[in-house]
Amino acid sequence: MKDPRSLSFTTRAIHVGSEADPATGAIEPALYMANSFLLPYDASQMNWSASEGNIYTRNGGVNQKMLEQKIANLEGGEDCVALASGVAALSALFFTKLKKGDHVIFSTVTYIATYRIFHELWTEKWGIETTITDCTDIEEIRKAIRPNTKLIHFETPGNPTLCICDIAAIVKLAHAHGILVSVDNTFSSPYNTRPLEYGVDFVVESLTKYINGHGDSMGGAVIGSHEDLEQIRYQAQVNIGGVISPFNAWLIQRGCSTFPLRMQVHNDNALAVAEWLERQPCVSFVAYPGLKSHKGHELAKKQMEHGFGGVLSFGLKGEHDLYNRVVTHLEIFTSAVSLGNAASLIVFIGEDDERMYLYPEEFHNGFYRVAIGIEDKNDLIRDLRQAFTAEGLETAD
Ligand SMILES: *Cc1c(COP(=O)(O)O)cnc(C)c1O
Repeated sequence: MKDPRSLSFTTRAIHVGSEADPATGAIEPALYMANSFLLPYDASQMNWSASEGNIYTRNGGVNQKMLEQKIANLEGGEDCVALASGVAALSALFFTKLKKGDHVIFSTVTYIATYRIFHELWTEKWGIETTITDCTDIEEIRKAIRPNTKLIHFETPGNPTLCICDIAAIVKLAHAHGILVSVDNTFSSPYNTRPLEYGVDFVVESLTKYINGHGDSMGGAVIGSHEDLEQIRYQAQVNIGGVISPFNAWLIQRGCSTFPLRMQVHNDNALAVAEWLERQPCVSFVAYPGLKSHKGHELAKKQMEHGFGGVLSFGLKGEHDLYNRVVTHLEIFTSAVSLGNAASLIVFIGEDDERMYLYPEEFHNGFYRVAIGIEDKNDLIRDLRQAFTAEGLETAD
């Protein structure tokens, strides 16, 4: 691909990094399961921690590099490191950019591992200072800034409340203070939002989710400048590990060809289901940034290009076990964590969840987090309706 810049997102998702195999002429990328590569005649001058060239698959494998090229392109970044999981990507970034005595501001609403790292593990083990902050409120972030603040990390929409943060405003504030900004873009995905266009320093994606899209592999990526990414390769990929398996990289690369098409259906289906849920008398609240009732709706419209993603949360008017019983009646939705699969998934988060105090009031009695899949949206609505009815709950059209 000579100059992919003039091509649309959909075309680039198919073609960038997916060249025909030069060795055989096969029109789809080959899978290279080797863990090691032939050395030159005299290898005595080689840097065993280098990531360029082919030495050893922990330094960078063939399929990993093809995937990195595609993801960097779709996020609009100079470079990308693909690792074993979204969490491996988050920790590679944090490990490389943070050191003892640094302060981190992170959002009240994040993936659980981010919370665990910044709230417990790294504070206790490595002397990183952290402040958990409502990142939907720029004044709260401003108040949390300290002389040693190194990084602001957030998600938009946030997992699981779907709160929306103002990427441009946070970048402006952070950079005025010399603070780095990283965004976990997993919920929105590069199809809807490309945070690098707003000037953030790093984007993290769980490739496990929408980009792979088939619920059959795990991966993660950090996207940013070439200089920063070389540092992440050298420090975290090669020396901490967490490298992606060639097969997972190959699966994710294959899944990515249909990612824009799938994402549009996730966007459309989730909006239809959210609008239907909002009309149901038995539903106590619906959190989805595509709804006009959502606090972040206007901002989400600006930041999310094609739609509002496939995840929504909602509550029922009822007690704890009602949530469990309703799930047993569902025929299409599967009770499982994760998101971005073709199939719709639902998970009940109970009222005693350890982070409930960080969420808005309406979540406090427990709620469902729903990952809307790419099935027919009317089938999804019918499935929810029959499960509600089976428990004697009142529904509307
Ligand atoms: C799933 C998820 C992660 C972690 O990704 P894994 O691939 O499961 O390690 C990180 N952030 C968000 C927002 C996620 O949904």
